[in-house]
Parts: sequence; C-alpha cells; structure tokens
Amino acid sequence: MKIYNTLSKRKEEFEPICEGKVRMYVCGPTVYNLIHIGNARPMIVFDTVRRYMEYKGLDVNYVSNFTDVDDKIIKKANEEGVEPSVISERYIEECKKDMKALNVKPATTHPLATNEIDGMLEMIETLLEKGHAYVASDGTVYYKTRSFKDYGKLSHKNLDDLRGGNRSLLVSGEDQKEDPLDFVLWKPKKEGEPYWEAPWCDGRPGWHIECSVMSKRYLGDEIDIHAGGEDLIFPHHENEIAQSEAANEKPFAKYWMHNGFLNIDNKKMSKSAGNFFTVRDISEKYDLQVLRFFMLSAHYRSPLNFSEELMEAAKNGYERIVTCVSNLNYLIEKAEINEIDAAGDNERSYLEEAKSYIAKFEEAMEDDFNTADAISSIFELVKYANTKASENSSKEFLTQLKKEILMLSDICGLIVEKEDEILDDEIEALIQERQDARKAKNFARADEIRDNLLKQGIILEDTREGVKWKRA
Ligand code: AMP
Ligand code: ZN
Repeated sequence: MKIYNTLSKRKEEFEPICEGKVRMYVCGPTVYNLIHIGNARPMIVFDTVRRYMEYKGLDVNYVSNFTDVDDKIIKKANEEGVEPSVISERYIEECKKDMKALNVKPATTHPLATNEIDGMLEMIETLLEKGHAYVASDGTVYYKTRSFKDYGKLSHKNLDDLRGGNRSLLVSGEDQKEDPLDFVLWKPKKEGEPYWEAPWCDGRPGWHIECSVMSKRYLGDEIDIHAGGEDLIFPHHENEIAQSEAANEKPFAKYWMHNGFLNIDNKKMSKSAGNFFTVRDISEKYDLQVLRFFMLSAHYRSPLNFSEELMEAAKNGYERIVTCVSNLNYLIEKAEINEIDAAGDNERSYLEEAKSYIAKFEEAMEDDFNTADAISSIFELVKYANTKASENSSKEFLTQLKKEILMLSDICGLIVEKEDEILDDEIEALIQERQDARKAKNFARADEIRDNLLKQGIILEDTREGVKWKRA
C-alpha cells in the first residue's frame, strides 16, 4: 500500500510502526457552527482510508478531536448570551448527526480539547524545561521556533524565508514575542472568556498544543498517520511537529496525509461571497450518500470543484450502483421462487472473471487511495453484473455478485442497498396481533412484536385511548 507523504513529498510504501496496527490522528473541526461541505471532505476521505485498512485486516485506532475552545466559539456564545460549552456541545451533536448521514464511522476516540488541559499544561512545562519555550511578561507562553532545528520540514519552508516573508505572523497583541516566528502555547485570560489556572497565568491554550497533546494521550508519542486538510500543513502541523518532537524527543508521525481543498464553482468557499454550503443545506436536496460519492470521485489530494452539474453527475453514478443492487435483489427473489439455487459452470467462470474487478479496485486503493479509479472498477463490476444476471440466473450466482458490489461500496462507505421501510399497514397489523396475543395472555409473543418493531425504529405507546405508534 503506497501513501503520499507530505513530509517526503513522494509516495512511500506503508509500513506501520507496530505490525498489524495503525495509529491515526485526524484534525477535527472547530465546533461553532454546522459543518460545511469543505469540512466533510477530510472526514469522508480519511474514513475511507480507515475502511480500506480495516478491509486489509489492519487494526486501526482512529482519533479525531473536536476543538471546543476557540475565539469563534466564544464570540458566538457571547452573541447568544450562553456559556461557550452550550455552543460547542450543540455543534458536536449536530456534527455527529451529519457524520452518521455521511456514513462516516465514529472515531475510536473523539477527544475534546477542554478535557485535556492537564496534558497541555504538562507538555508546556516540559517545553519550558527543555528550553523550547519562554514566558513573556504578561504570562503568555511562546514556543521558541528557532530552537527546533527541523522547523519547516513538513511545509518545506526555510526559516529565513518565513521570517522575511511573514511579518504578518506578528499580529497585534503578540508583540512580546522574541521572534515573529514564535507561536502561542498558552495565552492569558480575557474578560468574559473561559480560562483555566496555570503556573504562568490563568488563561487558555493555543490551538496547536491541543492536537500534540490529544495525539500523545490517545495514541502515544509516535504515530503512523497524521492527517487533515492541506491548509493545516502550515502552520498547524508544522507547529505540532515542533511541539511533539521537542517535548517527546521522538519522531511524531511517520506519514502525513493532506486532502486538497473543495471549491465552489471554481471559487474559494466563503460566507461573505454567498457561495457557502453546510452539509445540512445539501441534505435538503440530495441523499448525503451522493455527497460522499461526489467527494470520492476525485483523488483526495486534488482540488475538488463543487457545482450543481457535478452533483447531478454524482447522483447518476451513485444511482447506477443502487439500481443494480435492487435488480439483483429482484432476481434473487425470482431465483428463490423458481428454486434455481446452485451456480452452474458458466456462472462459476463468470464469478472467476468478476474477481478481476476486485483486484482492480484494490490496485487503485493501494496506489495512494485512488478512489476515482476504485469507483470506476465498481462501475465495471456493476456493468458486468447487469449483462450477466438474468431471470434464469441462480441464487448463488446473483448473491455472490451482490455481495461483491456491496463489499467494494462499503469500503468506500457507500450505502447502496436501501432497506425496505416497514409500511404503515404492516405496523397496524402487527399492533393488532400484539393486542390479540395479550388477550390470549401470550405475553412473550406480545413483547417480541414490540421489540421487533423497536428494532425497525417504531415506538409503541400504550395509552388509555389504545396503542399509539411513532417512527423514531
Ligand atoms: P476547521 O474547522 O476549519 O479547523 O476545519 C476542519 C477540517 O476541515 C480541517 O482538516 C480543514 O483542513 C478542513 N477543511 C476546511 N475547509 C476545507 C475545504 N474548503 N476543503 C477541504 N477541506 C477543508
Ligand atoms: Zn490539529
């Protein structure tokens, strides 16, 4: 399996530090609003990386944080007159709903920055002890960038170029820095802001220290993969390396993966320009599986342009797979009725041939997760299934084809088999059966009916006026 490593600027063979195990950290969103479709790109892309690795039998420990203390969260809390935690908790819940609809698996751990302050204080203390940080007269703690000799190795920037070209790094209020390149580890509290006690001053952490600490706590000093959008390469990930490697004295992440940016109609997404979509906006018009399909139809490192036209094309592509699976289901039912069970010789050789599409899919994924080509091989398999499956096919043959299409789609996190929704009439009939069972004192059957309905998302309520039901 080859991965493009931002650190070396080339594709490298993936060799996990501990055989069979992958420790992976993906920078998550700052939770002050509903997530936008740009935020959804790393979620979908790296979830697919995880799914493919799991398919290959690797045990993936996947950590993705929520940044829940930040200027934007505080600003929104002040506007609404509530505590910042009200804002962050609200948008974490909303983000999790979007992730579910996008079929992004929950991380092994989703740490919150505000629960990890002790670890941050500890790492800052270590950096001070080792001479990589200093306390300014107002209590701000800065990282001494020049003290880390490898600074710039990820973004391939030279310290002197950075200094010359980046006076803007010296923003007002941070003029106690010894060097414009130094960055904040801990900042003093301000009126009306959340703060924690610390030896240098009461205050709150800088953004970069959060990820160094959460990665260390949940995955250890050395990890296999650290990932996020390409805007994070500099300064966020560069600063994380400087903090973690200086504090732990070990290499931080072996592979650095970055997704390209999502633009809208070839322009940068921006609220003020009016070309800004949340995932929720898109869900009003499309099944979010279409958005997932769209994101995977390009290579993760390429820029991706979002437009109505491209979404329509993605919808057609996605539906081609869904339709094929639904046809196969129809034919499987026919084969059951006609009792054509076992595959014939021809069908067995077709199944052998179909394996070549799985091999092609794997080859694409092994080449730095080329999901665009991987999806093309799903299409080829779908086309093959459409031509070979008929009303005379055996159940074994059809079931195997369907299983393979579902397996490849699932690696991409695409749900292509729609479960039949239970109809109102069926629910009413089951409720009646439950009433009859109760009258006959067959409580076991009555409970069984209620539990089965619950599994399908139907909640029963016994009221004075009779049984009422609702969908969960
Ligand atoms: P943020 O909440 O801005 O820290 O972003 C959370 C994640 O989304 C980071 O990995 C960002 O790099 C990524 N991200 C933000 N905007 C975009 C975009 N337009 N396209 C792709 N990724 C993005
Ligand atoms: Zn981060």
